[in-house]
Amino acid sequence: MAILRFKALETVNSRKPLRPEFPKDRVTSYFGEYVFDKKKMKEHLSPEVFKALIQTIESNERLEPGLANSVALAMKNWSIGLGATHYTHWFQPLTGSTAEKHDAFFDLDGDEVLEKFHGSALVQQEPDASSFPSGGIRNTFEARGYTAWDPTSPAFIMDTQGGKTLCIPTVFVSYTGEALDNKTPLLKALHFIDKAATEVVQLFDKECARVIATLGPEQEYFLVDSALYNARPDLLMGNRTVFGHSPARGQQMEDHYFASIPPRVQSFMMDFEFAAWRLGIPVRTRHNEVAPGQFECAPTFAEVNLSVDQNSLLMDIMERVAERHDLRLLLHEKPFSGINGSGKHNNWSLSTSNGKNLLSPGKKPKENLQFLTFFVNTIKAVHVHADLLRASIASAGNDHRLGANEAPPAIISVFIGSQLTELLDSLEKNSNVIEKGDNLYLKLGIDKLPEILLDNTDRNRTSPFAFTGNKFEFRAVGSSANISAPMVVLNTIVAQQLVEFKAEVDAELEKGLKKEVVIVNILRRYIRESRNILFEGNGYSQEWVEEAAKRGLPNITTTPPALKAYLSSESRKLFVENGIFTERELEARTEIYFEDYVKKIQIESRVIADLALNQIIPTAVNYQNKLIQNVQGLKSLGLEENSYKASLDALIEISERLVVIKTEVREMTTARKFANNLEHMEERAFSYCDKVKPYFSTIRKQVDKLELIVDDEFWPLPKYRELLFLK
Ligand code: ADP
Ligand code: MG
Repeated sequence: MAILRFKALETVNSRKPLRPEFPKDRVTSYFGEYVFDKKKMKEHLSPEVFKALIQTIESNERLEPGLANSVALAMKNWSIGLGATHYTHWFQPLTGSTAEKHDAFFDLDGDEVLEKFHGSALVQQEPDASSFPSGGIRNTFEARGYTAWDPTSPAFIMDTQGGKTLCIPTVFVSYTGEALDNKTPLLKALHFIDKAATEVVQLFDKECARVIATLGPEQEYFLVDSALYNARPDLLMGNRTVFGHSPARGQQMEDHYFASIPPRVQSFMMDFEFAAWRLGIPVRTRHNEVAPGQFECAPTFAEVNLSVDQNSLLMDIMERVAERHDLRLLLHEKPFSGINGSGKHNNWSLSTSNGKNLLSPGKKPKENLQFLTFFVNTIKAVHVHADLLRASIASAGNDHRLGANEAPPAIISVFIGSQLTELLDSLEKNSNVIEKGDNLYLKLGIDKLPEILLDNTDRNRTSPFAFTGNKFEFRAVGSSANISAPMVVLNTIVAQQLVEFKAEVDAELEKGLKKEVVIVNILRRYIRESRNILFEGNGYSQEWVEEAAKRGLPNITTTPPALKAYLSSESRKLFVENGIFTERELEARTEIYFEDYVKKIQIESRVIADLALNQIIPTAVNYQNKLIQNVQGLKSLGLEENSYKASLDALIEISERLVVIKTEVREMTTARKFANNLEHMEERAFSYCDKVKPYFSTIRKQVDKLELIVDDEFWPLPKYRELLFLK
């Protein structure tokens, strides 16, 4: 086996950066080339059809069949013109990735071949959905599911080595109409926040017709050479190394962050950025991250639904492009122990339809009260529903990351910076609000909200939920996640909070009080009630864990108990009453999350056992034999014990460690069998978490020690120092 490792290392040494397939044209000439966006719709549709389509999109209505046919025809002509041969409904099932089933753009009419793509095929399809997770909603005897076009996300052409395919973003629901995907509830949550926020904005600005939630996800990832990746069964099976001793040099020199990008990596970045730009995905920034082998890219923010789609698409593109460069993309939250994991910071805000950012303090007092309204309501929503936010980011992978090296803790808190803290203090404590027109805010100092907030708020990187000047940044989200789940929760809880706020305001207004006074009084109470969630200190510290416990903030470090929040009576009420999920959908979804957790831990556990029994133990025994020869040889020369003591000690130490490994692997396997036999998925998840997973670190500890003792020539798995430092 060690042969594979050394072959891989040889291969890596001879790698050269690939020339990116980069066009000579300016970016403006091909950005969005492969997207059937508004501009292209306008070009390819008659003015009447275009107008009707835009209206349908904006009012969230169903597409008329006649209209659908015209749009389908235009889409077909546009995409065939660019070389597409097939089309597919592109959707996001609850596996976390994206799904496609391709159909060719032709049909046979007798002997004649016709180009064909009907409106009906654009609007709706019935893929056999039996192999997608449904949490018991869809029985195999009614295996059909429906996919239906989401016209708010534009169709695009996927260009791979295998050809070009027109992809139509769709929702995916069961035969009985229940959501089986990530997009359906997201669209509902976005509709909910639009409605709720618009009503609140109208307290300040009657003209506002719509509110749009915006999202800019920063994507962190690792890259490893594919030859080395292929020599690591743990990476192959589960995208995470289950063994591996820390290299002599890890990230302690802090020299990777923002350092110059390795040539092979830069060439990969150029390639995937180019592919992304053609698809209208505005990836703008790129840099090395803190850990060796870790990188980040971030797009310019967009409307949430589009941004979520684009992030899913981007992950897919990055994976494909990496392979072309003989690299493997690791989106796992914690591929390597002892160094940083990867997250996906979700920068989130709300914007009016005329582009005013509601989380950006304005110049006028009125705008500042509006800012404070949205700011304080968001904080309150996070305080009330912290458990749901925690649930929304729970996954087997993220469990390894949260609370580990430089990652946000599993405790949800909000960081707002010292200036805003002072401001909220003065707002809360100033008890006599006097009604004197604009002087009201003067008295509170709200009119002096400084514009330098931007520079002052982004200092604390340790918070899971931070205000960064003109947006909140949800940092606890995992790097491999489909970010629709956290976006469903965040937008729903803020919307719910805004609904409650508006009701309170209305009730007070009926008493004849002045609007500004009413708003300030309510916000003041909210601040008082939400105090506990605000934390400005070091979120990575042990003191915070203790302080949070005193404050009564939950610190749920593992997925199964975190997921339970979805099923609380408050959550059911929140989601069901607002039409985001039905009870059945919520239960099914949580079931799927439990199942996903079980599968991931199960795979890891199997990989650990296989590697330990088939590779590590035999390797160590081989080395022991070498040591035995050495000891016997030295002894036969009649030398004193001192001369072979080192070898003898190593022999004994290896034996002791092998015994522990064997025993623990056996016990872990028994625990796994026990868990597999439990009837309910939830029980199984808890059992895997509490009874199986603890063996991972104890087995690892022994194996990593062996890695240090056993002759390097014998060791089968590429080591951290070989995996992490790409050139
Ligand atoms: P950082 O300094 O946190 O590493 P950047 O400032 O480079 O990150 O990126 C922050 C992300 O926030 C970008 O994707 C950016 O487009 C996004 N962003 C900026 N303004 C908003 C907004 N109003 N709503 C949502 N996202 C935003
Ligand atoms: Mg950031």
